[in-house]
Amino acid sequence: MSTPQQLAVVADFLNTLDLRSYVRHGRRHHGGDALITPGDLTRWLVEHHLINHRSRAHLNDLELGQELREALRVAMRLRAGDGVPGPDLFEVNGALERLPLRVACDSDGTPGLVPEADGVPGALALVAAAAVRAQWSGSWARLKECAAEDCRWVFYDSSRNGGGRWCSMEACGNRDKIRTYRARQAA
Ligand SMILES: [Zn+2]
Repeated sequence: MSTPQQLAVVADFLNTLDLRSYVRHGRRHHGGDALITPGDLTRWLVEHHLINHRSRAHLNDLELGQELREALRVAMRLRAGDGVPGPDLFEVNGALERLPLRVACDSDGTPGLVPEADGVPGALALVAAAAVRAQWSGSWARLKECAAEDCRWVFYDSSRNGGGRWCSMEACGNRDKIRTYRARQAA
């Protein structure tokens, strides 16, 4: 079963590519990519307790991490609409093939994906496995990119009906409301 906490790690991983460019409180947000060097990936994985301090990411790990991140982002965008499953996680197959994962049953017999290696590849495998597990449990559909074009922050939709569209109603939801209002006034 995937918990929101496990999906929060996936969201964090996807948000290492910060695409936000909106203006808020008079200041433009400048995003950026937090995974540019192998050292960036090492730091991120240590911070998220996915590797120990002795492990180091190499260039091929970074490339695999970036590929997984991009594939998961594309997968989310491929959904038909709010929470409607599409061919989404099919996109991740390229990365999955290169990750050390196998199927194993846990103590109550439920099959799951487990990493077959330690270190950085095993840690990336854990992130991918959390997404796949979430697909099995139905919670993957609640991981979304904010609908605001100038935001696209990845968030876990905890709304009751799963129809949330904004990472923050207060920020992105309101900006959209104002835009819609102005468009209506202009028309
Ligand atoms: Zn947003």
